[in-house]
Amino acid sequence: MSEKAFPVKIGLEVHGYLDTCEKLFCMCRTDSLDSETNSNICPICTGTPGSKPMAVNEEAVRKMLQIATVFKSKINMDKLVWQRKHYDWADNPKGYQTTLSGAHAKVNAVGGKFKGINITELHLEEDPAQWNPNTGRINYNRSGLPLIEIVTEPEFSDSEQVVEWLKSLLLSLSYIKAVRKNAGIKVDVNVSTYGERVEMKNLNSLEKIRKAIDYEIVRQVENHGRGIEQKRDTLAYDESKGITIKMRSKEGASDYRFIPCPDLAELKIDSKMLNEVRASMPEMPEVKLERLLRKYNVGESDAKILTRNLELVDFFEGLVESKTVSGNVVLVHGSNEKDREKLEKGFPEQNKRNWIPWVKKELEKKGVVVNNPLMPENWNPDYKKWKMEIEKINIDENSVLVGTSAGGAFLVHWLQGSKVKIKKLILLAPAYRNKLNEKWQENNLYDFEVSEKLKDKASEIILIEYSNDSDSIKESCKIYSKILGLKPLVLKNRGHFCQKSVDEIMKLPELVDEILGKSEDINIKSMIPWVTVELLRVLNYNKKSLEDEDVDIRPEHLAELIRAVEEGKITVLKGKQIMNDFVPKSFSLADHKEEIGNISEEAVKNLCRQVIDENVKVVEDYKNGKKASLNFLIGQVMRLSERRADFRVITEVMKRLIK
Ligand SMILES: [Zn+2]
Repeated sequence: MSEKAFPVKIGLEVHGYLDTCEKLFCMCRTDSLDSETNSNICPICTGTPGSKPMAVNEEAVRKMLQIATVFKSKINMDKLVWQRKHYDWADNPKGYQTTLSGAHAKVNAVGGKFKGINITELHLEEDPAQWNPNTGRINYNRSGLPLIEIVTEPEFSDSEQVVEWLKSLLLSLSYIKAVRKNAGIKVDVNVSTYGERVEMKNLNSLEKIRKAIDYEIVRQVENHGRGIEQKRDTLAYDESKGITIKMRSKEGASDYRFIPCPDLAELKIDSKMLNEVRASMPEMPEVKLERLLRKYNVGESDAKILTRNLELVDFFEGLVESKTVSGNVVLVHGSNEKDREKLEKGFPEQNKRNWIPWVKKELEKKGVVVNNPLMPENWNPDYKKWKMEIEKINIDENSVLVGTSAGGAFLVHWLQGSKVKIKKLILLAPAYRNKLNEKWQENNLYDFEVSEKLKDKASEIILIEYSNDSDSIKESCKIYSKILGLKPLVLKNRGHFCQKSVDEIMKLPELVDEILGKSEDINIKSMIPWVTVELLRVLNYNKKSLEDEDVDIRPEHLAELIRAVEEGKITVLKGKQIMNDFVPKSFSLADHKEEIGNISEEAVKNLCRQVIDENVKVVEDYKNGKKASLNFLIGQVMRLSERRADFRVITEVMKRLIK
């Protein structure tokens, strides 16, 4: 049989469980698929006579809209009438399923495309119950769960293409968190070759789908060869025998006796909801992949591994972006409490320029301690009073100090006269006495000379200028720049008082970046195996995943660990061993300094001596030319040091000692 010698058309109807909290027409929870039989039911989802469905679950409607947005389908904004689809089967004691499909129904959305395959339509419906033919019991936990049905055009031509497409679909749906991940999908597959199409019902794994399609194509083609005409049948795939079995001749729509549901209001999507859904759509896998390639220069195969799992790629991005500040951050604004209140409320609109609350929140999200002292006076402050305020705060060599305007001048003045040394000083449009600001010369706060010596007080000094600032502030910045030998970072379209957009002023992302510093000190490429190999290893070993509620692994902790390895503070092996303890909850190495740091060369030497004494025979073997013996000895030292000895150091010392 030569390939493509016969016409194969395959279409899919994919049913997925929408990831909502409650069922479609009642308030029963949706997370009880694996719970005890009938532990999560009510008169509505069991179809007790006389019960009435509640209004449709809006969360389900929103998830449906998200999925339609992924496909760029056309949303039906008409009033949609819920239909009762009648059929008699043990899983459906109430006799009908509530759906937006059927002969008289208007579906939720039509058209659209996903990965080259046209979408016919998609619609919401409820799941029936679960019937166990062996026990005769019915489990209603499943009954009433919100389902999305996605119908494709019959455009697939083989099983491989179907499986790849479904994988992409599941990945995209996992990115928007629309479909319940562990519940799986059920797929009805239509296959037609020469005759009528047949439908294979309820295939619930990719493997089953692949086998069923392959079997069915061969069967139909062989039947055709024997002159047997293919009718429009509904089949079941028997996995144990690897064959399809005829269930029934396909019902026409009339067999289902669709009628409008008298108990449910029509569903009407309003454009407000649709716009909200569209505006909040997350990034799709292919966009994320593009970004990993472009922004982080990650290799394509690594990027593919990472983007195959949303939690993993999010973790990786968190890792790359994790910049840690080990000490506190002190923000000193050039205004006092009373003024600040006004600033926050936005007195004259153009002066509404207080970015402090925003910057503070951004830093605190990353676990940074922020101090923002309230200074007693404004514009014309008394240095002594300000000094008293700042000295209430614990400032040390890990602190980052940020001063803006008068706050900048104050910090310079204070640091120059203080014994304190800090990690970083950021001067944001700092004021200074200058020719344009002569009146400030008499003031205490400005009564100092900026001096080169400031550079000894902070490991790093950053000067930031606003492009639209007043001449006097620009002049001040020039003086700081000249004396301290700093090239200022210039923020375009910003200034003390003249801003383009108020919303923009309230944020200062550039400052957050400068405070946190660049994470370029860790090589992104070296991070990848820690995520794609080590992290997955410890998760798999513990049978956990990042999305489990009891798992709390913080990217910044792994970043700290990788940095310690890169800097040679701990060995790679020790790093891996520490990661074993990161599940379920990671921790900062700083809290375990004593137990994990590398041991000294002297200590390694002692351990080597001990191992040599205890393994005389092995040492002899090595001296007689058996190279592998050395590895054994090194291994023993590694074990005794609890993996805290550096491999290279042991090798070197060992070789020296047994020469
Ligand atoms: Zn219920």
